[in-house]
Amino acid sequence: MSQPRTALVIGSGFGGLALAIRLQSAGIATTILEARDGPGGRAYVWHDQGHVFDAGPTVITDPDSLRELWALSGQDMARDVTLLPVSPFYRLLWEDGARFDYVGDSAGLEAEIAKLNPADVEGYRRFHDYAEAVYREGYLRLGTVPFLNFRQMLQAAPALVKLEAYRSVHSVVARFIRDPQLRQAFSFHTLLVGGNPFSTSAIYALIHALERRGGVWFAQGGTNKLVAGMLALIQRLGGTLRLNAPVARIETEGARATGVRLASGEQIAADMVASNADVMHTYRDLLTGTRRGKVKAAILDRQRWSMSLFVVHFGLDRVPEGLAHHTVLFGPRYRELVTEIFRGPALPEDFSLYLHSPSVTDPTLAPPGMSTHYALAPVPHLGRAGVDWAAEGPAYADRILAALERRVIPDLRRHLRVQRIFTPADFASQLNAHHGSAFSVEPILAQSAWFRPHNRDRAIRNLYIVGAGTHPGAGIPGVVGSAKATAGVMLADAGAA
Ligand SMILES: Cc1cc2nc3c(=O)[nH]c(=O)nc-3n(C[C@H](O)[C@H](O)[C@H](O)COP(=O)(O)OP(=O)(O)OC[C@H]3O[C@@H](n4cnc5c(N)ncnc54)[C@H](O)[C@@H]3O)c2cc1C
Repeated sequence: MSQPRTALVIGSGFGGLALAIRLQSAGIATTILEARDGPGGRAYVWHDQGHVFDAGPTVITDPDSLRELWALSGQDMARDVTLLPVSPFYRLLWEDGARFDYVGDSAGLEAEIAKLNPADVEGYRRFHDYAEAVYREGYLRLGTVPFLNFRQMLQAAPALVKLEAYRSVHSVVARFIRDPQLRQAFSFHTLLVGGNPFSTSAIYALIHALERRGGVWFAQGGTNKLVAGMLALIQRLGGTLRLNAPVARIETEGARATGVRLASGEQIAADMVASNADVMHTYRDLLTGTRRGKVKAAILDRQRWSMSLFVVHFGLDRVPEGLAHHTVLFGPRYRELVTEIFRGPALPEDFSLYLHSPSVTDPTLAPPGMSTHYALAPVPHLGRAGVDWAAEGPAYADRILAALERRVIPDLRRHLRVQRIFTPADFASQLNAHHGSAFSVEPILAQSAWFRPHNRDRAIRNLYIVGAGTHPGAGIPGVVGSAKATAGVMLADAGAA
């Protein structure tokens, strides 16, 4: 057979875009097929009465992993995207009035820790050393290894044991830090990538090192501008994006993928096919009728899936005073709430919220004198709690806005101009997300590295997976890392590496 020269990427999430950049930079003619009318997947965008509502990711970490995508073809990310620093990284608020500004510099961060519990400064330093160690091993060394066979897993095992990967993030934090609120401050990050701090592998403590080393950033104009910048790069390199092009089927012949069939009936042939769509959707729906699709869908059905999110986007006719760009509002419970979110079976009464207020960093996201925000609450996925979101969503949004009004934005509802909600049912129907999960397969150790769906399918040898459902996992650095792992395998298979 001649060298593979064409590739299809199903889906234009960050993983799909990053993969297309890597393939196209290496000379593989790449076409992205996106079901929706706009790119970005979870990073889709809505424009409403002058407000720019980014649908999903807002915290950009490890900017070097993004710059690397431009550098592959000798280009500079600054041509397409401007990253603005965010400080504090996060503001954390508790019901008892305690406040913690999670900042990037050691002196400032230790002063904030001392305000809550001076005795924890020393323990924090040791936690930071631990986070640095897991960053080096878990992120730099193993983060982009494709883990296609068990031998690679055995080779990584000593490092994973040394990192105590079998422990949870919270248990490691609790070993170093005593104050219950500080324990929350240094363990909640796993929720940003779909992990329960009480069961996600301690490797995820690396997020702290990632933030301290590389900072927390925001794309000028919103995350949608990062998506647009990646797309501009793909197009300059000669790649193609087709919107409104839902894939209905991955065509196979024996152990090979031959291309795809769109919902319109159009057939597109290619040498290699990569799916950035939800992994369950890929195997159950796009490979329906094949033995491989059936077997893998059954395995995925038995796995644990990350929680979902309820998001309420809103625009105000004024700019509230004193807000940070990223605010976490802890509710009255932590461990119990997280357990109910991940285990179900019902929507908890209380919630913890993440409030995004991008106008703080970039006022152009709202009309002059106004502001743009979203608040999200982690909620059980649809496989755990069968909530009728069409019926319950508006009332739930109102409860969230009332809590924000009470705690951080006085008179919020009097100044409301526009509002929209995105529920677990929308994750399922608009993104084909299994159970409406916001982050795909849950990042527990038993579902990580080799145990996660592989970057190349083991039976259909030219079918590849990229994005949150494969190694290493969700989050922008995760899916951009998955694109590096997947591209490495594809280019080696194509004889182009
Ligand atoms: C509300 C929210 C906030 C978040 N905040 C952050 C954050 O601050 N920082 C961070 O790093 N991460 C954050 N994340 C996580 C991060 O956004 C995701 O992990 C990441 O964007 C997922 O990228 P992906 O490559 O897996 O693709 P996805 O974004 O899941 O995109 C998959 C694409 O495939 C398309 N598709 C599906 N089926 C088909 C089909 N049959 N045919 C064609 N196309 C199809 C979909 O339409 C979609 O565009 C957040 C996530 C959410 C939901």
